[in-house]
Amino acid sequence: MNLTDSLIEKVETFGAHNYHPLPLVLQRGSGSNVVDVDGKSYLDFLSCYSALNFGHQHPRIVTALKTQLEKLAVCSRAFYAEEFGYFSEELARFVGLDMVLAMNSGAEACETAIKIARKWGYEKKRVEPDKANIICLENNFHGRTVTIISFSTDPCYRDGFGPFTPGFTVVPFDDISAVEKVIDANTVGVFLEPIQAEAGILIPQEGYLKSLRKLCDAHGILLMVDEIQTGLGRTGADFCYQHENIKPDLLILGKSLGGGLLPISAVVGPKNVMEVIKPGQHGSTFGGNPLACAVGKAALQVLREERLSDRAAEMGKKTLSKLSTIKSPLIKEIRGKGLLIGIELTASAGGARKYCEKLATRGVLCKETHDNVIRIAPPLTIEEPDLDRGIDEIIQVISNT
Ligand SMILES: *Cc1c(COP(=O)(O)O)cnc(C)c1O
Repeated sequence: MNLTDSLIEKVETFGAHNYHPLPLVLQRGSGSNVVDVDGKSYLDFLSCYSALNFGHQHPRIVTALKTQLEKLAVCSRAFYAEEFGYFSEELARFVGLDMVLAMNSGAEACETAIKIARKWGYEKKRVEPDKANIICLENNFHGRTVTIISFSTDPCYRDGFGPFTPGFTVVPFDDISAVEKVIDANTVGVFLEPIQAEAGILIPQEGYLKSLRKLCDAHGILLMVDEIQTGLGRTGADFCYQHENIKPDLLILGKSLGGGLLPISAVVGPKNVMEVIKPGQHGSTFGGNPLACAVGKAALQVLREERLSDRAAEMGKKTLSKLSTIKSPLIKEIRGKGLLIGIELTASAGGARKYCEKLATRGVLCKETHDNVIRIAPPLTIEEPDLDRGIDEIIQVISNT
């Protein structure tokens, strides 16, 4: 058996089968390039679901990690840590909101936002005890905890995992009146992704976020925006909500906040909301550890100094217009913002996975999302010739099938 097959067998034997990976085994990465155990190179057009906006092993972020590793990695929040202060200030100022609550995974940050919104509802809005309700959107993806899948509409994420957490109302995405209809005295917030990436890069009509902002203001409820995947430059702006010139009450970040090296997530919000959490009421052993904070701070600096959001906007525009030249009966729609692009195939195409498998043999790594969509999300640092080469492969694989 060759090395690749034997390693795949190890994973399938000793690892739980909660993923269905493409059949290749990665060993190294640098920038937008990864290399498998046989020495074959690939362009990474998935970027770890946008955790790699800065590419693999970004030198400056690696240096920040190494420097901090020599000093202090983990110390818990039982003490003040130098880097936690630097990171929190950097992030709060970057977002333009007052305070940061740091966690580790994206799902944890979403759970945190839910807890903050509920407590804010009871303390500041006088919602009846245990009646706080949050409005969510159909086809949402916010992670995998029991509470989060409680408001998922995807049977694959839910089936077999009940009983579920109450306190959520799910309405259709991109429909303002559907949200308006269900707001009542116990509503504390509207919780959404500005682009539904996992659902297949679903982009709402222009003005949707702005209307939600107005609605939330009119009813005195929180607009909670999950930018774990869309944030930090991905859509051609630092945050996707900036395309509509609004600001959320609670911003949820993860993925690329860890610079492509470590997990770190955060909720950012105004003081009058964040202050409802008092010492001991919420936390995480590793949340805001100095190592992750040093990396997160460096990631924000790289985003700004390398002007990656502008880069994503420019390269995304070019890529979309290039893709629009494909003439294939397999394509239903191509849509995207910045470097978050989806190619939706028709039902007769037979699923996006086989195209991703073909692309992998040609040295381009993409991953299907929701059966029929090929997601294109390379690192925002990708060199233009690499982007062009990858896009050309995609065009060829679709055109020649
Ligand atoms: C990935 C993702 C999450 C969950 O993050 P994890 O780190 O996997 O828990 C939540 N929301 C969105 C929009 C995501 O893309």
